[in-house]
Amino acid sequence: MARCPECSGEAKWQSPFYVCTVCGLALRRREYERMHHRQKTALWEAQLDDQQDEHEKKRKKHKEYEDWFLGSKK
Ligand SMILES: [Zn+2]
Repeated sequence: MARCPECSGEAKWQSPFYVCTVCGLALRRREYERMHHRQKTALWEAQLDDQQDEHEKKRKKHKEYEDWFLGSKK
């Protein structure tokens, strides 16, 4: 089943368009595939951002520990 890249509703093939049954978005096959590709890329980038956030959090925690460790030496 095709998914609408805008609202992820069901999209039906009505030659020459994919038409979303939810929001009515109509896309040619090429556009449809391109938008899906872009969405996947965006999703992948968002996941990458999450990972970076996680990494940043860990780094911050480590920094806090370091501060505490160095502070306790005083
Ligand atoms: Zn839609």
